[in-house]
Amino acid sequence: MTELNFNSLRTGPDSNGKFGIHGGRFVAETLMPLILEVESEYEKAIKDYSFLNKLDIYRRDYIGRPSPLYLAERLTEHFGGAKIYLKRDELNHTGAHKINNVIGQILLAKRMGKTKIIAETGAGQHGVATATACALFGFECEVFMGATDIERQKPNVQKMQLLGANINPVTSGRATLKDAMNDALRFWVANANSHFYIIGTAAGPHPYPKMVRDFQSIIGEEARKQILEQENCLPNALVACIGGGSNALGLFHPFLDDKDVEIFGVEAAGKGLNSNFHAASLSAGTPGILHGNRTYLLQDDDGQITDAHSISAGLDYPGIGPEHSWLYDIGRIKYLSTTDIESLEAFELCSKLEGIIPALEPAHALHITGQLASKRKGQIIIMNMCGRGDKDLSSVLPLIMKNRGKN
Ligand SMILES: *Cc1c(COP(=O)(O)O)cnc(C)c1O
Repeated sequence: MTELNFNSLRTGPDSNGKFGIHGGRFVAETLMPLILEVESEYEKAIKDYSFLNKLDIYRRDYIGRPSPLYLAERLTEHFGGAKIYLKRDELNHTGAHKINNVIGQILLAKRMGKTKIIAETGAGQHGVATATACALFGFECEVFMGATDIERQKPNVQKMQLLGANINPVTSGRATLKDAMNDALRFWVANANSHFYIIGTAAGPHPYPKMVRDFQSIIGEEARKQILEQENCLPNALVACIGGGSNALGLFHPFLDDKDVEIFGVEAAGKGLNSNFHAASLSAGTPGILHGNRTYLLQDDDGQITDAHSISAGLDYPGIGPEHSWLYDIGRIKYLSTTDIESLEAFELCSKLEGIIPALEPAHALHITGQLASKRKGQIIIMNMCGRGDKDLSSVLPLIMKNRGKN
């Protein structure tokens, strides 16, 4: 493994899985041998031509990559400043970026001889992507999902069932993503020899944050090439929303060493950062340990993890991947936030102006993109449109109607 190279921000984590003081591997002793095996198999796989070749073929013929980099002319005109480009990862099979990571990890599971898969899910996007890949490979699939999320993400639950996954409802805590991940990790400890755990974001114990980032970095690698072809220069800024941080790192990572490219991560401010109803781990959290790694978390003075809130189930996580925490500490990325109401406005705006119904998660990024764009005439901004909004319609439409009633 490479050690941190201070000439580049792209070489982490170090051999202990640390990004600065963040990351690491805080897991049950029984899990340690397995997680070391995942790490060594992963390191071999990404140097193996036949593994990479298979990954390329699934990316192209199954996921539908490369995704286009689209100049959103009407949004650009609306904000009256920078050119806004959307990286169209919502066009991927299953409707979001999650499949990029799942295909990578399931190929690794297969290479390791595993045929049973565990996954946690919040919005259900990672669950659907994992159930999809399990159907494709003929693998058994155990999905852990909070009971609250099962209620608010019905279409995704139905899809997972149709695809043959077994859904394990989680009722502990607030019955959302954090609790689902706790139960998934617990199940893994008990079934470590038979099951491979596909984590859905750039979090969890080492090597997951690195592995997920690497599999998602195809987003930024494509975007970098595409903008050079289309504009003959690099963008001035990048914007992406952050739940655990995987779509954001996927876009950002290939640009980290491009000093002139400003990078903005967007957290969910829920009902406001002062309200206790948000999911902004960096803007309003402190470092602690959750789900096998050290990172910024929403926690009280006793170190109890507090509940996250966002209108968007995919951003409703009280932590963030450790690489973001490090990039925040060293100041390479600026982290801003968008409230529930602002994201609803962006959701509607994008639908009306571009004919693209965004997921609520990237609608958070779009709000910030608009604010930045309006002050940056002549510049270029790339935003990751990391998912489509079909899954959100039933929860969003009543809220939009209610907002209209107020105006
Ligand atoms: C899961 C999800 C997210 C949040 O996860 P990250 O790991 O932060 O990318 C964001 N957008 C969509 C569409 C999602 O499905």
